[in-house]
Amino acid sequence: MNFLEYAPAPESPSILHLRKEYGLFIDGEFVKGHGKPFATISPSSEKHIAQIANANAKDVDVAVAAARRAYDRTWSKLSGADRGKFLFRIARLVQERARELAVAESLDNGKPIKESRDVDVPLVAAWFFYYAGWADKLDYAGLGASPAALGVAAQVIPWNFPLLMLAWKIAPALAAGNTVVLKPAETTPLTALLFAEILQQAELPAGVVNILTGAGDTGAALVNHPDVNKVAFTGSTAVGRAIAKSTAGTGKKLTLELGGKAANIVFDDAPIDQAVEGIVNGIFFNQGHVCCAGSRLLVQENIHEEVVDRLKRRLSTLRLGDPLDKNTDIGAINSREQLDRIRELSDIGEAEGADRWTADCAIPENGFWFAPTIFDNVSTSSRIAREEIFGPVLSVLTFRTPAEAISKANNTPYGLSAGIWSDKGSKILAVADQLKAGVIWANTFNRFDPASPFGGYKESGYGREGGRHGLAAYLQTSIDAGASRTPVAARTTITKKVTK
Ligand code: NAP
Ligand code: MG
Repeated sequence: MNFLEYAPAPESPSILHLRKEYGLFIDGEFVKGHGKPFATISPSSEKHIAQIANANAKDVDVAVAAARRAYDRTWSKLSGADRGKFLFRIARLVQERARELAVAESLDNGKPIKESRDVDVPLVAAWFFYYAGWADKLDYAGLGASPAALGVAAQVIPWNFPLLMLAWKIAPALAAGNTVVLKPAETTPLTALLFAEILQQAELPAGVVNILTGAGDTGAALVNHPDVNKVAFTGSTAVGRAIAKSTAGTGKKLTLELGGKAANIVFDDAPIDQAVEGIVNGIFFNQGHVCCAGSRLLVQENIHEEVVDRLKRRLSTLRLGDPLDKNTDIGAINSREQLDRIRELSDIGEAEGADRWTADCAIPENGFWFAPTIFDNVSTSSRIAREEIFGPVLSVLTFRTPAEAISKANNTPYGLSAGIWSDKGSKILAVADQLKAGVIWANTFNRFDPASPFGGYKESGYGREGGRHGLAAYLQTSIDAGASRTPVAARTTITKKVTK
């Protein structure tokens, strides 16, 4: 029950000046696609937003050729400092148009405006600012002498953080001197198209970034195009696996950011109120459409009941509804298809014997919605403990000792992220050391920073995005060529100097 009722506070979509139809962005211009156009809708109302062009293999050819030309004739001829200036300009334009981008993102994706406004869009600007700073310092990134750009990068991104995933892909690629062809997800193309307008405003040379809208076929044609040098993919493990197979032996450099089933481990010495907030942020942020979501709560047995009770109380205060309302905590599920998947896995969880609890909130009539849900007493072999639900659904498991927590946390085919809640720094470090996860948060969750590398182990993929590690994915380095980081002679000299 809500003790505080809030008056509606919707952000006005009138700030948007959307076109009725969007073309493909190739060689600096919007052009018609050769595939059958499709509509993008708002998942909270199922209302039509705009008609979107669909790129077929012919369009992919044209876009890759434009990126190749831009690489050969312009982008590779610019100094790092000049590339950096374009990135700074893009970052500033993102800031200037921040409100508009946030509204467009919430409209097209269904995420609450307070998240797109306070998390997604500021991080997009931060990513461009950060990599702008690297553009003229590649020699100092610790990646060996004179790292060189790869050429044309083919990038495919998912729908959960449409503009942020675009920034994670495009900013390091351009800073490292590559040109780009990017495909956004079919259900969330809008902000990538507004971003294309920003590139025109920034007067980025034609062909340096090309945006191809379309579905899975477009993505497949792009990553399999023979003239791309680098493939960067974020999405499901199944598609990632197919891309790894099709690019094997082609010489294309590949990074895969795939799924996750993160453990959020709460010890009995943790500050419980903060941990509860962290659990909520870990799995209910962005409706749980987060690859690194803390979807498995591992709570120490002696505080299990207290934590679950407090969690239920907290979830009962979350407001589900209009994503454009500034008071909304839980927005819409991105698509009917995703909603069906969440429903199916939740029903399986119940059938497998876990205790299902759902927050009592009114569900809007139209659109795709799923109320925050907890499954308690989940067994480690249950499908809801092993498979990614990618929705606002938390599976609760218990443990007695740190060793049991570690073994349960690592008992997953994934290895993207994890969280640890404890009052003791030494315990946090000791446990973190033994977790097989690319990112580990301590007494917090779902924090992102452009300077911090992000990526997974096992079925969560390989390669890192963010930080100087994220640059390595877009550069041919002496380390790639098998050379040691520091030549032996240089190492000897350093040793001598130190020992004298
Ligand atoms: P998905 O089906 O793999 O789609 C991801 C992207 O790949 C979309 O643009 C999709 O196009 C495209 N695509 C589909 N089939 C393709 C193919 N055969 N070849 C090339 N591209 C293809 O994933 P999703 O279900 O939309 O996204 C959710 C998944 O992404 C989750 O598993 C989540 O964990 C993962 N994810 C991972 C990270 C990370 O950083 N590790 C971040 C976000 C999401 P369409 O949209 O048009 O189908
Ligand atoms: Mg949409």
